[in-house]
Amino acid sequence: MSILRIQEWFDDIGVRPVMIAGPCSAESDVQIQKTADALSGPCRPSLFRAGIWKPRTRPGTFSGVGTKGLQWMIKVKERTGMRLTVEVASPRHVEACLKAGIDVIWLGARTVSNPFSVQEIAESLKGTDIPVLVKNPLNPDIDLWMGAIERINNAGISKLAAVHRGFSPFERTRYRNMPKWEIAIELRRRIKEISVLCDPSHIGGDVSVVPELAQKAMDLNMDGLMLEVHHDPLSALSDSRQQLLPENYCSLMRNLVIRCPKPEDPGFINQLEELRSQIDSVDHQLIELLSRRLEIIDLIGQYKYRNNVAILQMDRWLEILNTRLELAGLLGLDRDFTEKYLKLMHQESIRRQTEIMQKLEEKPGGSADKGPDN
Ligand code: PEP
Ligand code: MN
Repeated sequence: MSILRIQEWFDDIGVRPVMIAGPCSAESDVQIQKTADALSGPCRPSLFRAGIWKPRTRPGTFSGVGTKGLQWMIKVKERTGMRLTVEVASPRHVEACLKAGIDVIWLGARTVSNPFSVQEIAESLKGTDIPVLVKNPLNPDIDLWMGAIERINNAGISKLAAVHRGFSPFERTRYRNMPKWEIAIELRRRIKEISVLCDPSHIGGDVSVVPELAQKAMDLNMDGLMLEVHHDPLSALSDSRQQLLPENYCSLMRNLVIRCPKPEDPGFINQLEELRSQIDSVDHQLIELLSRRLEIIDLIGQYKYRNNVAILQMDRWLEILNTRLELAGLLGLDRDFTEKYLKLMHQESIRRQTEIMQKLEEKPGGSADKGPDN
């Protein structure tokens, strides 16, 4: 894919992290100008954001001011010089943004979840070179996210970046949308050129957790942040709990610790190399041990088959869980992590034993004979 990193989209877009800030929704000309004025000082973001058409989960809630909001946005650009970004969900929205002079558009989580909508938007982008941000879909499906990026890229858009905004949880959690950092990391592994930003406001759902999420994104070397900021969050017509006051946005930015993306000091690099070679060796041994463990599992599968014994032996499984968790605890391993590993290994053991039993069953004369091992 031919994709330009976000730092190359405009001469003055700034260095990492690229900041995008502004209200969830454009509500009135006054609200937009007040928020933009408060942001246009020392904490000025690279892009000023606002939703004009709001994809709301339930009908009857505020669904955006529509096209007239674009004029309020353009006024921000004329008054403060800040570049603008707006969400689009249809070719009609794209056309209106291009006509108004919006600098960057973004596709929201609900739109990205629907390949028909993404394809229609992609068609309407052909022949333009407006930069596009693609949020992750509502469900943690990396292929759906990648598919949307590919569709937009196939339409000739190379100024493309992704935004991790978390995934809808099945149950109430500490966060409004569950962050799945591993999916954002995997996306970067699969599409090397792509910049990945983070939207801590939609992940967190509440201002109290936004700063820690923003820091986490920086520690994972993400390229930028999209944050919701409102001059009077309590009066906001959408997402009021997660919108920062401009002064709080400023202090969040000042307190962000930006670590260097790649180590440069030779002493540090040597030390890191040394530790990494130890990790390489341990991983090597772990994989050999895993393979050895699974070979033994195969023997157990054959043995159970010959003796007509069921694969799942609940007592043994409980014994494994308890003894391993106890040992892991003594060695300071996280219980949750160990439990996940043990369950994964148990699933794989069952899968292999089932496969072995099926193969033996298919063999002519292969049914259980309960006879002595020969
Ligand atoms: C938004 O940015 O205001 C928005 C609706 O985002 P998402 O698509 O991530 O829910
Ligand atoms: Mn919002």
